Amino acid sequence: MVNRNQQHFHRPRNGLPDREVYHTHRCAATGCREEIRRGLLMCGRHWGLVPRDIQREVLASFKDLTGGGNKHRYVVAVSQAIRAVDSVTTSGRYQDPE
Ligand SMILES: [Zn+2]
Repeated sequence: MVNRNQQHFHRPRNGLPDREVYHTHRCAATGCREEIRRGLLMCGRHWGLVPRDIQREVLASFKDLTGGGNKHRYVVAVSQAIRAVDSVTTSGRYQDPE
């Protein structure tokens, strides 16, 4: 016997419509579990730790990618952003708020 309720697996969380839940993913920063909108790379807290020139490169390369551009450029920019955040969060200069 098929339970029809099992088909409704995209259950709303945080009062958001299904569509909004579907369009979220995890922050790219190492160990961060923050759920963020698609189109963003990191949560606001981690994105703020990425140097401006790398932020610009991530955004520019993402725009390039969505226009059918070079995926390698975006992957490189993202890995630079993640490394930049890592270097701040593991240096002891930054304390992760609980
Ligand atoms: Zn984050």
